[in-house]
Amino acid sequence: MAQITAPKGTQDLLPRDSYRWQWIEGMIRNLCAQYGFKEIRTPVFEHTEVFVRGVGETTDVVTKEMYTFEDKGGRSVTLRPEGTAGIVRAFVENGLFNDALPAKLFYLIQCFRYERPQKGRLRQFNQFGIELFGAPDPITDATVISLPYRLFKEVGLKGISLELNSIGCKECRAKYREALIAYFEKDQERLCGTCLERLEKNPMRILDCKSEVCKEVSKDAPLITDFLCEECEAHFKAVQEYLDALDIEYKINPRIVRGLDYYNRTVFEFVSNEIGAQGTVCGGGRYDGMTEQFGGASQSGIGFAMGLERFMLVLEQAGIEAPKPQDCDLFIIPLGESAKKEAVKIASRLLDGGMGAQYDLISRSVKAQMKYADKIGAAATMVLGDSELEQGIARIKRMADGAQEEISLEALNAEWLEEFLR
Ligand code: ATP
Ligand code: MG
Repeated sequence: MAQITAPKGTQDLLPRDSYRWQWIEGMIRNLCAQYGFKEIRTPVFEHTEVFVRGVGETTDVVTKEMYTFEDKGGRSVTLRPEGTAGIVRAFVENGLFNDALPAKLFYLIQCFRYERPQKGRLRQFNQFGIELFGAPDPITDATVISLPYRLFKEVGLKGISLELNSIGCKECRAKYREALIAYFEKDQERLCGTCLERLEKNPMRILDCKSEVCKEVSKDAPLITDFLCEECEAHFKAVQEYLDALDIEYKINPRIVRGLDYYNRTVFEFVSNEIGAQGTVCGGGRYDGMTEQFGGASQSGIGFAMGLERFMLVLEQAGIEAPKPQDCDLFIIPLGESAKKEAVKIASRLLDGGMGAQYDLISRSVKAQMKYADKIGAAATMVLGDSELEQGIARIKRMADGAQEEISLEALNAEWLEEFLR
């Protein structure tokens, strides 16, 4: 039969690579625990309306990139293109505002976007993100930003920079919107079709367009930072002061508007210049009041999402390797039926004691088994043949230096092996 291939823009994570992901995910989980963020898992698919409300009608994500379909009951559902909307929905629906506030949540999820696949741009990809509800003070913005910053530092990543902006509140943006429309109207025949529509509906989105011409047209566009009201200005300044206190370097980039509609005040991106056009590894911002879009009381909210494939690319680029895990402490090579019985007993004892123990399952030759043990990176091997069984001893070889020791079969346990491998 003909082979079937994976859908375009998807990737298989193979056993030989999964330890890299587990390493990063482990680090993320630890860091979140240190900061007091707890994991939330929401459905992979939601009513389409969740993303229309939570991401915004005029965004690229909603207009072009969603995997939307009708289920057998005739409801429109969508595979989540991002994490925030579903979490805000869950926050309101489950009354999480009744628990201790601020609520600190994190997620590690798969997302789906119908995009043109490129390096660092997939149709199914992984995101790590956090959401923090009920804390409007600028100390929160800086704290949220400090988490990915710390993650990058912990893995030893250098060439990644923080870009910061404030896109103000509704009032600031109303004035800014007028200024943008006035600016873009002069040049509107050069804008792409999508941006022409944006000019009416949401002109700020034009600044986020990836088309070269639109980028060129927006070169001298007015800057949001010149339109901030007094409160937003003060908030922005305070965020910077907290970042200074945290010793976090940043660059103010008044052109960051972010891809989702409901951001207000602080927005930020962590950008790497090492992976080309798909350089934004992590992006986030404040989305005060988004809970209202889901029928809840107004709550302040702030969060970010990090693209894990892009993060892995940056790590690779920087030559940062995950430590290889030691899964197999001892590989037992039994020769013959009675040796196989003894092998399962010994392995059981070692497993009970918390060590990694494996043995041959397909009765290969000693040579083939040795080769296999080497391939899986066994720390030690032991051949169990007739003479070993008769004498009741195990001969164990440490692979790192070839050192060999003998011990009685009964005395071979986890403590002994641990000591031998130390
Ligand atoms: P871009 O401008 O690159 O399209 P975006 O603004 O659409 O990014 P967000 O919605 O902010 O991205 O998602 C947060 C992060 O998720 C991005 O910074 C990126 O690292 C990652 N990401 C977004 N889309 C994809 C994708 N199609 N494939 C892989 N990673 C992605
Ligand atoms: Mg995008």
